[in-house]
Amino acid sequence: MSSSEDLKLIVNGKRLDGRKLDELRPTTITAGVLNRADGSAYVEMGNTKVIAGVYGPRTLHPRHMQNIERAVLRCKYTMAPFSVSDRKRPGPDRRSTEISMVIANAITPVLDLSDFPKTGIDVFIEVLQADASTRVAGLNAAAVALADAGIEMKDLVSSVSVGKIDGKVVLDIAGDEDCFGDTDMPIAILPRTGDITLLQLDGNLSLDEFKEAIALARKGAKDIYALQVKALKERYSHDRIIE
Ligand code: ADP
Repeated sequence: MSSSEDLKLIVNGKRLDGRKLDELRPTTITAGVLNRADGSAYVEMGNTKVIAGVYGPRTLHPRHMQNIERAVLRCKYTMAPFSVSDRKRPGPDRRSTEISMVIANAITPVLDLSDFPKTGIDVFIEVLQADASTRVAGLNAAAVALADAGIEMKDLVSSVSVGKIDGKVVLDIAGDEDCFGDTDMPIAILPRTGDITLLQLDGNLSLDEFKEAIALARKGAKDIYALQVKALKERYSHDRIIE
């Protein structure tokens, strides 16, 4: 549905939640939140709340799934039944399967899976509360959880959504912007190289808008990266280790 006639998403240069066009929602990232996982992280991007747990590398069962040359990375994205306003039917669906796959693809380039032949690395991402951009929040949590598990990584993966609402390019799509906006484009970026490992486009952008959106995504991903690093530093700070 077009936003223009029905609901104005930008009023006096501000979005419905008061943000500027190039502003992230209030975002917090915490590493090491689950005792029983090898690595974990919790991410809040506004009202989107996501937790990730990593197990492994551990011997992969059943054995026929093992790869003698490298670890098998398995990502599973799920939405809790209470994460959306209408109860989400539990269990896998096409959307979750697709998101699990794109998250695995976005993470794979930073891992050297040949370090751990015959093993599996499992990344579980659970959406506790969904208010748009859950794959983005899930990816940010997964990257921190992998680092928290002590798995060697070439880089983190920092992810944001950009999009177009009321004809303007904006950072971090949320709330009604997802339903009534024109375009949603989740992007994952490797902070050191600037490589893009996820880019999906739901809607339309002109070439100029696309370039503007990529530049905005790079800016947002930089801020996410700083929060991811901060979370990992806090996790391994003196005080947390003594705990
Ligand atoms: P993302 O969450 O990565 O933006 P989508 O664009 O598919 O992925 O979903 C956008 C938003 O739509 C979600 O964040 C969530 O708020 C809502 N949503 C997705 N699936 C459901 C569902 N089954 N029931 C209700 N809301 C949903």
